[in-house]
Formats: sequence, C-alpha cells, structure tokens
Amino acid sequence: MAQTIEIKVPDIGDFSDVPVIEVLVASGDRVDKDQGLVTLESDKATMEVPSSAAGVVKEVKVKVGDSVSEGEVVVLLETEGAEAGASGDEGTANAPHAGAADAPAGGPAKPPVAKSHRAPAEPPETKPAPHSGRQADVECALLVLGAGPGGYTAAFRAADLGLDTVLVERYQALGGVCLNVGCIPSKALLHAAAVIDEAAHAADYGIAFGKPKIDLDALRAHKQKVVGQFNKGLAGMAKQRKVRVLAGSGAFVSPNEIEVDDGKGGTQLVRFEQCIVAAGSQALKLPGFPWDDPRVMDSTDALELAGTPKKLLVVGGGIIGLEMATVYRALGSEITVVELADQLMPGADKDLVKPLADRLKKQGVAIHLKTKVVEAKAQKNGIACSFEGESIPETKLFDRVLVAVGRVPNGGKIDADRAGVRVGERGFIDVDRQMRTNVPHIFAIGDIVGQPMLAHKATHEGKLAAEVAAGEKKEWVSRVIPSVAYTDPEIAWVGVTETEAKAKGIKIGVGKFPWAASARAVGIGRGEGFTKLLFDEATHRVVGGAIVGPHAGELIAEVALAIEMGAEASDIGHTIHPHPTLSESVAMAAEVYEGTITDLYLPKRKP
Ligand SMILES: Cc1cc2nc3c(=O)[nH]c(=O)nc-3n(C[C@H](O)[C@H](O)[C@H](O)COP(=O)(O)OP(=O)(O)OC[C@H]3O[C@@H](n4cnc5c(N)ncnc54)[C@H](O)[C@@H]3O)c2cc1C
Repeated sequence: MAQTIEIKVPDIGDFSDVPVIEVLVASGDRVDKDQGLVTLESDKATMEVPSSAAGVVKEVKVKVGDSVSEGEVVVLLETEGAEAGASGDEGTANAPHAGAADAPAGGPAKPPVAKSHRAPAEPPETKPAPHSGRQADVECALLVLGAGPGGYTAAFRAADLGLDTVLVERYQALGGVCLNVGCIPSKALLHAAAVIDEAAHAADYGIAFGKPKIDLDALRAHKQKVVGQFNKGLAGMAKQRKVRVLAGSGAFVSPNEIEVDDGKGGTQLVRFEQCIVAAGSQALKLPGFPWDDPRVMDSTDALELAGTPKKLLVVGGGIIGLEMATVYRALGSEITVVELADQLMPGADKDLVKPLADRLKKQGVAIHLKTKVVEAKAQKNGIACSFEGESIPETKLFDRVLVAVGRVPNGGKIDADRAGVRVGERGFIDVDRQMRTNVPHIFAIGDIVGQPMLAHKATHEGKLAAEVAAGEKKEWVSRVIPSVAYTDPEIAWVGVTETEAKAKGIKIGVGKFPWAASARAVGIGRGEGFTKLLFDEATHRVVGGAIVGPHAGELIAEVALAIEMGAEASDIGHTIHPHPTLSESVAMAAEVYEGTITDLYLPKRKP
C-alpha cells in the first residue's frame, strides 16, 4: 500500500542553519533509494540529503536559499508500502556510530562528534579483491596512508607503542594540508596582516609608523621557512621513532596490501597487518570557473602569494575565504566577498559574526550575502564575473578570484573497494567510535571521515586509531571540538551554539560578557568583542561557549575544558582568573549567568 513518509535532514555534525543550494527533485518525480534530493552547503563542504526509500515526490518542502538543520523535513515521499519502514523517519536513521553513545551517568548528553559528514545511505557491500599473490617489497604491522596531522600523529603514536610502522605520503614533505598549505602558512601570513593593522591602529593613540613597505618575496620566504622548519622536524621525529617513510601515492590492492607508486615509474607493494587511512581532503573546485587560468585560485594558490591583486573576488564567506581575505586586504587588495548564505561563516551564531562583518565593512571590504557567481570568464584584462542574488557587486571584473567554498575528501581516490572498505557517495569513509571502518583491521581518521574538517580533530582521531591498533581498549570520548576563525577579530566557538539550541529546542541559559566592560580589551582598542557561555538550565553545567575578539582562539580552550569536565557556572566563576586579562571575560560570562557579576550593573532578576 502506498504510504507517505517525511525525508528529513540527517545528522550533519555541528552544523545548523545550513543553506540549501540546490533542489534536485520536483513534485511528481520518481526517485530511487539513496538518490540525492537537495544539496546543502556549509562553510566546509557540500552534501546531499539522500532519499531513504524509492518512491514518488509528493511535495518539496524547501527551496534554494532556505536554511535547514538536522531533523527538518525536506521532502514528502510516497512510497510503496514495505520500502518505507515503520517510522517514516529514515532520513535520520543511518547516522554513523561515532558520537552516538550516551553520556556517562549524570553527565550531559554527548554532542555528536567525529562523525561522518552526513548520514549516508549504506552503499552496497563491496567485495574485496583477493590477495595479489605477489612478493611484498615491504612488510609491516601498521601502514598509515597519508602524512597530514592525522597520519603522522597516528604513525608516531603507533611506533611509540611498539608497532612496526610504515608511513606512505605522496609528497616529499610531511605534514599534509595543515602544515604545507593550510593552518600553518595561513597563520604565518595572518600574523603579518595583524602587524600591519596594529601599526595603522597605533596612530589612534599617538604612535604613527607611516605606510608599511611590503616585501612580498621576504614575506613568502618567512612563511616557507616556518613550514620548512616543521617539515624537517617531522622527518627527524619519524627517523627517531624508526617509522619507515615511503614517498609515493598509495592505493589498495587487497585488504592487506597497498601499492605505492613513486610517480617516476617505480612501485612498491607493501603488505600490512593493519592500516590507518589518513588521506585527507582537497579544495572543492566549483565547476564553471576557468581553473586553467592562474588568476583563478583555490586556497593553496592563494597561499603562494604570487602577487597582490588590485581587485580580489573571494567566493565563499566561510573561515578559509575570510582568513585569506584578511591577509590580502592588509597587503593592499580591494576585496569583494560573495556568500550564498544570509550571513558570513554559516554555522556560527549571528551575533558572533557581526563584529567581524562590521570591521571588514569599515576596512572597505564589500560583502554580498545571498549571492552567487553564475559565470566567470577569463579575459585579457581580468576575470569577468556575473552574479545572481540579492546583493549584486558593482565590480564585475577582478584581477584574481579565490574560490573557497569547501573541501572534498579523498576517499574515492585510494581504491578502497579493493580492500572492501565502504566509501560514501561524497568520498567520506564511515567509522565507529574506535575509528574502525567496516573492515575491522582498517581504520580511517581526519578529514576523510567527516566534519568538522579540522587538524585538531584529525590528530585526536589519529592517536586514538593508533592506540586501538596497538591493542588498547579505547574509544572516542571527547564531547566537543572547538572551531576557530583566525580573522580579525577572531571568532571561536565550542559545543552547543545558540542557533542550534533554538533549532533543537534545547533549554539553555546564556551568560554574555561584553568586552566593552573589560578594561584590558578597551586598553587594546578592542571593546567590540564579547564572551558568551551557554548553560544547561537544569544542571547549570556549561554546554557551549563562543568568543569574538583578539585571541578568541586561545581563550576558547578554557571553555572546551569546562565542558569536558562538566563544570558548572559557579566552578568557572570561582576559578580565579588573572587580572587584567581577556581570560577574565570567561569567568565574568559565568558570573553574568549566575547574577553575581560586579563588573557590570545588571537589573535585579525577578524572583
Ligand atoms: C587554507 C586552510 C587553512 C586551514 N586552517 C586550519 C586551522 O587553522 N585549524 C585547523 O584545525 N584546520 C585548518 N585547516 C584544515 C586542516 O588543514 C585539515 O583539517 C587537516 O589538514 C586534516 O588533516 P588530515 O591528516 O586528515 O589530512 P591532510 O592534512 O589532508 O593530509 C592528508 C595527506 O595524505 C596525503 N595523501 C592523500 N592521498 C594519498 C595517497 N593516495 N597516497 C599517499 N598519500 C596520500 C596527502 O598528500 C596529505 O599529505 C585549514 C585548511 C586549509 C585549506
């Protein structure tokens, strides 16, 4: 018998209010099980909401430009009886294991962590290839594929625990995206931007330095020196630990073999007892851009600092796009940012983003929300772009365009099927709370297993996978993973956000301390910041926190620790923070919630 079911947004990690960028079906369409219905785009990646059953679309409940969160209905589907299942709620039924466990007795429920990017419909069981029967060139207890922060951490920890470990990396330099073309070079350049801005700001309190002379070659060399120092450090530590590093691109041959191709005609067959896949992700190259033109850049190209374009278009107002915009603006580029969502940094609470948006606008950055690039053409005099949306930029011709709209995992590029490892449609590999894939002796960690795609998540997962591979009885226990945008001001958040609490009906209390009341913040000219803590109304335990202002990325660690320790507002308030510091603002936000603050006057609460 025909039955109507609701297809809902599955568990999409720490994201809420994610914009719908594409509706893939219309009323009356016949769809297969697992077929994509709508495409969502967070600041980190795009994802499709799959149909949990075959049937006919009765009604599409969302349109392009809407923002959705976990559990919202996107499509009503008429199915043929048995396919629908009992609950009609299959859109959320296939959530991966990671993060699904309950909290310890008395503790707050654990928010989902380290999970797959979306809850994929189970791809068909892949049948592994048989062993090659070839003589192995290298044998080891553990092979780690990919030497990013996840991979090298896993390899080093495994070696420390006594496993004979081989680390395979396609590039000569170890460190992956984070060290070579991500976290580290971007922060080296952001520091330079901060110095330029701080010097300009000093004129406000009587110290004028004049216009900075920027030597781009020296700045590039500085960035490369920082990276190189840590490349060397990692190679040295691998040697000290007797981790054998093989240079080349690895792909599975069977469940216990990987072939490493050195790109120069040489291959080596490595036989392993266990494997940790840490092959990471790469920038999403939006179709329709002339990618063969060097004036169109992804974040890796932008970090090369080939020059300072007069007019730079940044496509995507997420963390990476805004960090690079911060660098190029300080170096002298005129910046235009277009973002599809209705706010910068979708996923972060709106009040957090406002001080950043205000400052960027003051600095002359043109921000266009609910807008997208529909065409980009390479011309002799620049990249000509046309736009669609609510806020069309005046400028149409740019010297360079940076496309920063998310990253895609490399799961589809390692012949995982030959090992029997299931890879979802989008290239993510599902793992359990011990980081095991569906093939128990093969683990996966880092960007390749899902959101949030952050280095500190990858390193924690790497350590865990190595410890489990070495026989330790461990599983993922962390409750939260902090996010930081190293913009100016910095924005950092951890745990439950206000937007998420609202969407999920979680009862929270908020303590917000404005930095305008912090003499230290005002002393450095940054009274626009604030610190916000979110508390469970029943237990008074802190469940989330967010900070905007200089050094927010450093300050948020205290909130993460408080959440992990199950701290109550009074625990934070009673912890004596040094004065005068920005860190005091964390204690003061707790005091605001408790009603014990003396650094602000708050009208008395009604009993
Ligand atoms: C511009 C930018 C700034 C960022 N800033 C931050 C930040 O400030 N903080 C933060 O936490 N995160 C940041 N990130 C994200 C962070 O870099 C990633 O989350 C992190 O690098 C993921 O680590 P990983 O080990 O999973 O993978 P990766 O770092 O992607 O490493 C994977 C490695 O595997 C190798 N590999 C892939 N396939 C193969 C193969 N078949 N054979 C052999 N080797 C292979 C790759 O060459 C790579 O070295 C940033 C990213 C970018 C792009």
